[in-house]
Amino acid sequence: MNIKQICMAIMRFNALRELSRRRPREIETPSDRLSDYFAINVFTKDKMREYLSKDAFNAFIAAVERGVLFDRNVADQIATGMRKWARERGATHYTHWFQPLTDGTAEKHDGFIDFDENGDVIERFSGKLLIQQEPDASSFPNGGIRNTFEARGYTAWDLSSPAFVVGSTLCIPTIFISYTGEALDYKTPLLKAISAVDKAAVAVCQYFDKNVTKVNTNLGWEQEYFLVDSALYDARPDLCMTGRTLMGHASAKDQQLDDHYFGSIPERVTAYMREVEFEAHKLGIPLKTRHNEVAPNQFEFAPIYEEANLANDHNQLMMDLMKRIARKHHFRVLLHEKPFASVNGSGKHNNWSLTTDTGINLLSPAKNPKGNLLFLTFLVNVMSAVYKHQDLLRASIMSAGNTYRLGANEAPPAILSVFLGQNLSSMLDNLANQVGDSKMTPEEKTALKLGIARIPDIMLDNTDRNRTSPFAFTGNRFEFRAVGSSANCAASIIALDSAVAHQLNEFRAEVDRLCAAGKGKDEAIFQVLKKLIVESKAVRFEGDGYSEEWKKEAAKRGLTNITSAPEAIGKYLDDSSKEVLIGEHIFNEIELHGRVEVEYEKFSKKVQIESRTLGDIALNHIVPTAVAYQNRLIENLCGLKQLFSEAEYDELSEDRKDLIREISLHVTAIKKLLKRMTEERRNANTCDTEEEKAIIYDKVVRPTMEEIRTHIDALELVIDDDIWPLPKYRELLFAK
Ligand code: ADP
Ligand code: MG
Repeated sequence: MNIKQICMAIMRFNALRELSRRRPREIETPSDRLSDYFAINVFTKDKMREYLSKDAFNAFIAAVERGVLFDRNVADQIATGMRKWARERGATHYTHWFQPLTDGTAEKHDGFIDFDENGDVIERFSGKLLIQQEPDASSFPNGGIRNTFEARGYTAWDLSSPAFVVGSTLCIPTIFISYTGEALDYKTPLLKAISAVDKAAVAVCQYFDKNVTKVNTNLGWEQEYFLVDSALYDARPDLCMTGRTLMGHASAKDQQLDDHYFGSIPERVTAYMREVEFEAHKLGIPLKTRHNEVAPNQFEFAPIYEEANLANDHNQLMMDLMKRIARKHHFRVLLHEKPFASVNGSGKHNNWSLTTDTGINLLSPAKNPKGNLLFLTFLVNVMSAVYKHQDLLRASIMSAGNTYRLGANEAPPAILSVFLGQNLSSMLDNLANQVGDSKMTPEEKTALKLGIARIPDIMLDNTDRNRTSPFAFTGNRFEFRAVGSSANCAASIIALDSAVAHQLNEFRAEVDRLCAAGKGKDEAIFQVLKKLIVESKAVRFEGDGYSEEWKKEAAKRGLTNITSAPEAIGKYLDDSSKEVLIGEHIFNEIELHGRVEVEYEKFSKKVQIESRTLGDIALNHIVPTAVAYQNRLIENLCGLKQLFSEAEYDELSEDRKDLIREISLHVTAIKKLLKRMTEERRNANTCDTEEEKAIIYDKVVRPTMEEIRTHIDALELVIDDDIWPLPKYRELLFAK
């Protein structure tokens, strides 16, 4: 055994020893009363009122609520007030905080330092710096939008999300766009999509209630994650480099007993969760829920839902917070969608609803028939949007990580269906049957309205909660469950809001057309709803989304089922997706193409890194370990040969000879496959387009990686545990 080999094995054992010494971290409670410290690190409206002049405050509110621009002088006043507050919270630096198309957020810290008119150093933060900056951002992904001579991008303050202090830095949420005005981030299109659905939904609400002037998108995310002890994590190069295990034999016990879900939380983990909660609350993130998830060492955090742009900022911040605090507790957070092959992966359910400025949840049944018709209108339109734009929605959630999760009998399948619950679903069918093509009699109308009035009762019975649906109605919201745990929620909300906005606009155009042709408003609405219910029936599914039968049934219904990430991503450029995204002015043609390029690129790069890492580990850690063990067996055989007669020896040595043969076969296979994989990567990298490259990484490189893994996992089973260099699944998943 070479030195490296010994060290690797020692690293694994040291890590395990380290683990036995771990104790829960003592954490300080900020105060007994949550209200004492909630949002203490956020420049909230209340704090603005305190730190700004009345005029500056009013100008700010007018800008947020009515889009009224304010002048330089006001901007300076706001910046000065913000700096004063931030200094008191310990901030010495500020940054524009934005969400480029990478995973995670970006920031560049600057001090509050400046020269005054006399050339003396002073502390200053001007309105100009608050509102706009030009980070040299040429290395952020842009999908070819920016030529190098136009490498500048700029960030601009998002007034709708409050500034906050993290550590010693004042963070100002901003959008990030190219010098030529194309969006290079998630926030810009998110704000546009939120505004598109607002306009479209308000117009439809006006059929029912003229007082509605604004419709908000709400988002409540549920963030799943794994915790792994940091010592074990460090001993796994694959986790360090790729965020997931590229090899590892299944543990004898994993989640089959279902004993982890909602079980008691280990003390060390509780301490971690408490500290995350405190810090999140200080940042105004309304964290509410924490519990175990299905897989061992898998957990979840969920806040109370908020307006979608703010909720998404909070999710981004939260992922960052979770990682930082984990280190203090000697944990590492895994946000990857599928860190372990044999147990469930992690998702991020996006609970989504629309509410009006008159206090109505448009996805919640009401107490009167009119309100229920409003509810039905939105329910049916959302369902139709999912039906018509299933490919767009799937494109928005697909990624290198999520391919391992979707359709893997644990997470929603790659088929987009809507779960409404049996009762609500039959109610829709009844409604469609009741509405004829000819003019309705007053009796028919009354019967219909009575039927609709019964919705709240129907919903009360609606207790079945289908867990296998990718898009489930849960009483007052939809839960988009196919979103990956590491994703930026914005991608899925952009797709969903734009698709719903587009559908609502179509709905309104049709109702208006029928009204113009002489139909009454209610009857026109009924007619169009009926059409949509019938047309989108294929998307409704109440059964087991994980089953094989559903795949067959879905194919018969004409629903698409795309499991390949590059293929799914390519659907962003379909005519129907463009109709939505470009038609609703969320992206222009250049931006959309740029975004798709970035997605292909991200996919290829991730698989490339995984493939290289796998190659390194196989060659440097696994093969030498296998050979070392083989040598030990050979030595043993030599000894036996000296001790025994030939006949006895033959009988006694058979199993070891077999084992030596088995190990040799695996080692040879691994080496051969590694060579092939390198060649495959080389081919992929010479492709002309990002699309072709991603397809080769998906269809050629990934299967080879899987093949190599099978051999490594087989070796793990037969090689002496004492020299196996990597922490095993049972250690990663069950160590507390
Ligand atoms: P589950 O049983 O699905 O885990 P939870 O009660 O934990 O449900 O809620 C999940 C998330 O859904 C939370 O963030 C919650 O605030 C959010 N949520 C609840 N109602 C709504 C709504 N009307 N719109 C959007 N999100 C909502
Ligand atoms: Mg849920």
